[in-house]
Amino acid sequence: MPDYKAPLRDIKFVMTELLDSEQHYANLEGAEDASPDMVDAIIGEGAKFCEQVLSPLNQVGDKEGCTWSEDGVKTPTGFKEAYQQYVEGGWPSMTADPNYGGQGLPHSLGLVMSEMVGTANWSWGMYPGLSHGATNTIEAHGTEEQKQTYLTKLISGEWTGTMCLTEPHCGSDLGTLRTKAEPNADGTYAITGTKIFISAGEHDMAENIVHIVLARLPGAPEGTKGISLFIVPKNLPNEDGASGERNAVSCGSIEHKMGIHGNATCVMNFDGAKGWLIGPENKGLNCMFTFMNTARIGTAIQGLGAAELGFQGSLAYAKERLAMRSLSGAKNPEGIADPIIVHPDVRRMLLTQKAIAEGARALIYLTAQQADIVHSGKTEEERKAADEALGFLTPIAKAFLTEIGYEAANLGMQVYGGHGFISEWGMEQNVRDARIGMIYEGTTGIQALDLLGRKVLMTQGESLKGFTKQVHVFCKENADNEQLREFIEPLAALNKEWGDLTMKVGMTAMKNREEVGAASVDYLMYSGYAVFAYLWARMAKVALDKMVEGTTEEMFYNAKVQTARFYFKRMLPRAKGHAESMLAGADTLMDMPEEAFAL
Ligand SMILES: Cc1cc2nc3c(=O)[nH]c(=O)nc-3n(C[C@H](O)[C@H](O)[C@H](O)COP(=O)(O)OP(=O)(O)OC[C@H]3O[C@@H](n4cnc5c(N)ncnc54)[C@H](O)[C@@H]3O)c2cc1C
Repeated sequence: MPDYKAPLRDIKFVMTELLDSEQHYANLEGAEDASPDMVDAIIGEGAKFCEQVLSPLNQVGDKEGCTWSEDGVKTPTGFKEAYQQYVEGGWPSMTADPNYGGQGLPHSLGLVMSEMVGTANWSWGMYPGLSHGATNTIEAHGTEEQKQTYLTKLISGEWTGTMCLTEPHCGSDLGTLRTKAEPNADGTYAITGTKIFISAGEHDMAENIVHIVLARLPGAPEGTKGISLFIVPKNLPNEDGASGERNAVSCGSIEHKMGIHGNATCVMNFDGAKGWLIGPENKGLNCMFTFMNTARIGTAIQGLGAAELGFQGSLAYAKERLAMRSLSGAKNPEGIADPIIVHPDVRRMLLTQKAIAEGARALIYLTAQQADIVHSGKTEEERKAADEALGFLTPIAKAFLTEIGYEAANLGMQVYGGHGFISEWGMEQNVRDARIGMIYEGTTGIQALDLLGRKVLMTQGESLKGFTKQVHVFCKENADNEQLREFIEPLAALNKEWGDLTMKVGMTAMKNREEVGAASVDYLMYSGYAVFAYLWARMAKVALDKMVEGTTEEMFYNAKVQTARFYFKRMLPRAKGHAESMLAGADTLMDMPEEAFAL
């Protein structure tokens, strides 16, 4: 596994130069503490922790996995101690509500830390990641008593959290879930049912685990309208708030799986476990969306992390590994061969990873700024606009970034040749770990339906227009900029095509609803490439302006422009293929009778 080095220069570029984080934080309610010096200090400290503590445990976690012991599920060597250090450093409280022990820093700053944690060691990062989702859910929907009891412990990091949705017969289709919640005389509920694939469901890193569980009340309506949400602690809290008697919830087994071995994926049995309702009856799925939206952006980071880690490893290797001579003549005549970085195809693989990692960082930070505004924007109007933008960008970030992040991880392995397939180098672990990103938190197929069906068509294209309007303004403002022409012209054309395609798909969908499902994944991928084009054009502009102004970092800014050029010329053409596919019609998928598949 390559030693992770936090890409601090690029993090700073995206935060401050591309997205003007200083102004952004100044516009938020209660973000006064996020001064530039404070932000730098936090990121610098976080980077050290990730590089020195978490990264060395990444391969250990993969090799050892989670195991059973007399005391329950044991995490890999070093995981528990690293978590202690994380808690002592105050990291769990960073973005939480100050009324319950949090530091109230903006969510986007927390996501920078999540990026570094997740790239250094994704499996480990899932434990605090799930707690973060539980924290947000109780913060948004819990009663004052629930906040005092659970939120304070989650924020301090003494307890961790989970998200319990999936059951053996349902994951995407939560409307069919069966876990029951029966009222007890004391106002609590008895929760009975089996949840599977529960990340961080059981472990030895914290003294208590707060499960956030979807279940049905007696007589609840069928489908998604009859689901309620409950807090079910592993140990019941005592009067004094400490973790007490064991609740009737237990881990039935730990799943054996392809990757993320250091994270315990558990079957959780609820046998009349005591639970407390959060939010209104039968509105559980709405409340759970607070958790799921946190987790979706969190999962988008997995795509970024996989690309960054693959890139860091394969770049170092490509500079050292010698094989054959450059087609244009030897570049390392004293050596037995040239380093493989001289070969065009190796450069294609490296630049693809770089364009994906840096584009993903820009997309995630942009999305995170919208989340900040939804949470702490100063006016109702800006909060509403940000909410719409966040809803539009979230499925794209989640699905597009995990898809292309996986592609990048695969290229990272390919650069190593046969050595990439061997465990020692860590590249095959990166591929295995990254693969789950396209499945959990809503598969790519489900995210695509959400984007095209719910976010775009059901709003008559309003959410798309909100975004394409920004792109249009950017293109107009820079239409006369000669240096930017190579980016602005194709971006403006793409932006128009995006609207036209949406209209065409919408029209065919009015006649046949299958068209939405048939077009959706191509639509999502097209949208991802379009959002990337906008961000890469903006990054090129920042870099070009900087070079005109004069800079001592010519190489850094020049690389930005070169990568933008690579993206426009060599990756963006993929959008054309998705455009054609999305218009190919549902009949190319639906006309074949089911029985004929096997012939
Ligand atoms: C390692 C791991 C960790 C996980 N962690 C958690 C966790 O912490 N908490 C939790 O609750 N769950 C967790 N999950 C579960 C995960 O979220 C689900 O596996 C996922 O949502 C998919 O559900 P499913 O497995 O039931 O697949 P299904 O829903 O059966 O889907 C199977 C296939 O059908 C497709 N499909 C289904 N419906 C449609 C449709 N209408 N249109 C088009 N395509 C469709 C899907 O895209 C998919 O390709 C985890 C899973 C794994 C493997």
